[in-house]
Amino acid sequence: MNTETLPKDRPAGLRRLDHWIDGAPRAPGSGRYLQTVSPMTGQPALDVASGTAEDVDAAVQAARRAAGGWKRFVAAERGRLMLAMAQAIRANSQRLADLERADTGKPMPLALAEIEGSAQYFEFYGSLVYLPTGDVLDVAPDQHVFTRREPFGVVGVITPWNLPLNQAARAIAPALVAGNVIVAKPSEITSQTTIEMARLADEVGFPQGVINVVLGTGADVGAAIVGHDDVRKVAFTGSVAVGQAIGRIAADRIIPLTLELGGKSANIVFEDADLDTAAKDAVRGFTLNSGQVCSAGTRLLVQRSIYAAFLSKVAEATKAVVPGDTLGPLITPAQFRRVQNYFGVAREDGARVLVGGEVATVAGSEGGFYVQPTVYADVDNKMRIAQEEIFGPVLVAIPFDSEDEAVEIANDSPYGLIGTVWSRDISRALRVADQIDAGQVFINVWNTMSVQTPFGGFKHSGYGREKGIEAIHHYSHLKTVTVKY
Ligand code: NAD
Repeated sequence: MNTETLPKDRPAGLRRLDHWIDGAPRAPGSGRYLQTVSPMTGQPALDVASGTAEDVDAAVQAARRAAGGWKRFVAAERGRLMLAMAQAIRANSQRLADLERADTGKPMPLALAEIEGSAQYFEFYGSLVYLPTGDVLDVAPDQHVFTRREPFGVVGVITPWNLPLNQAARAIAPALVAGNVIVAKPSEITSQTTIEMARLADEVGFPQGVINVVLGTGADVGAAIVGHDDVRKVAFTGSVAVGQAIGRIAADRIIPLTLELGGKSANIVFEDADLDTAAKDAVRGFTLNSGQVCSAGTRLLVQRSIYAAFLSKVAEATKAVVPGDTLGPLITPAQFRRVQNYFGVAREDGARVLVGGEVATVAGSEGGFYVQPTVYADVDNKMRIAQEEIFGPVLVAIPFDSEDEAVEIANDSPYGLIGTVWSRDISRALRVADQIDAGQVFINVWNTMSVQTPFGGFKHSGYGREKGIEAIHHYSHLKTVTVKY
């Protein structure tokens, strides 16, 4: 342990979090730790292992040792372990939610819902072990030709800070069930629940080394995972810039990636919609997790005939979202500054503040990183606040006249993650859904995703798919075997 590397004014008694490698905690080889800060108070919270390429190599070697055994596990037994894992997550849900809340500040009901979603990933993929995994092909009378799916081996899973356990489980569960072994790296800001997941996996009987977690920064640990010769596939969730950097390394190594990146999703409200429901969902769509959600509905496109009336419903519903209660803080001082910077950009661009636009003070949490839920009206889609992902509780409202114009504005974005259409005319809603460039489109509801629904982006929102049966195909490759007889 090398305490010299910790800041000199470090408060005594912060808990230390180490890597999880080969079924046990392991201190970082460098002896260095990074200090996290509570987003609710701004106070130091935890010392997190600061990993290096050496630690990554130790995790990859542990995973490789476990790989052969895990690949040969009887499928039903693999499924039973997955279901045991789902049960273990549920049995520990309050403790996991407490850790998630401590790291992120998110409201407890949201933390609990995300933990429940994490259990469901293990349950869903555990049940898929009984599905057939290949085909028999009728090629010629004297040939038996069949296909089978095989695991890649060591899969790297790199996740962000906004839904920490949930996003880790989203990638790890299908990768495991496909027969892979894991080296995961959570965000250095939110490492606790991913470590807990690995610990629980070992507790319920997963062989040691099947799930390893290396903590630390993206530059030190993430890049070392993507660049490691024995990592054969990487699932990455995070920003476009890092996705691009990882993509360059993966291109050189010729390994497949799943990239789940950002979004600036359009929520299109036509004049014949159920306006009360649409207004409530529009507010849920930009305030959930304080807007720190890749699929947030942050561009509100409203038909001009109902524009003023609809915005007053949105303003009313937004006022019911209370910082420090139903609205958590932003994650870091950097994210706090970033959102405030966008308040300034909005002012300079001439957007009209309908609600918010300021920092929020929360009694008892004065050092926390809270902002008011914010709605800008009369926004032009060319403005920076309409083009760039802010990742805070900020909604921009843009009027439109025709169906064609709504589609044109919705698609005038570098991203393509989600689209939402509100209309009682189902033919129109389906026509518009058809034309939206996004991996998911919702009609008359915002974002009711489940573990069963494939999820992923178009354009800069990424490629590959997580969730659903589809994800299994992204964690295995296909082998064709031909037998002549
Ligand atoms: P980020 O890209 O900065 O970090 C994501 C992860 O990558 C972290 O674990 C980080 O340590 C690691 N990382 C950073 N630099 C790296 C490098 N050079 N090599 C390897 N790994 C590296 O993103 P963030 O700020 O943590 O999260 C916010 C972003 O994630 C937003 O843009 C958001 O839209 C996106 N996101 C997307 C989804 C999705 O499913 N599409 C879900 C959640 C978040």
